[in-house]
Amino acid sequence: MAKPSVDKELCIGCGSCISVCPECFELDDEGKSSVIAETCDCDLEEIVLGCPVQAITVEDKEEK
Ligand code: SF4
Repeated sequence: MAKPSVDKELCIGCGSCISVCPECFELDDEGKSSVIAETCDCDLEEIVLGCPVQAITVEDKEEK
């Protein structure tokens, strides 16, 4: 499991991440992507690569 985060300074609100994974991302009031899930099961690598401005980073949550 991994937790993504969005740099809202970079996000241009293209909606790409939201279309791939609406369970984890939604547009906030300012039209920027917002992470709404604590951890995501979706294909975060695809989402990170699909962001046109590299606004998404992923923090791995290793189970210990
Ligand atoms: Fe913002 Fe990137 Fe998501 Fe597009 S893909 S909405 S620029 S975080």
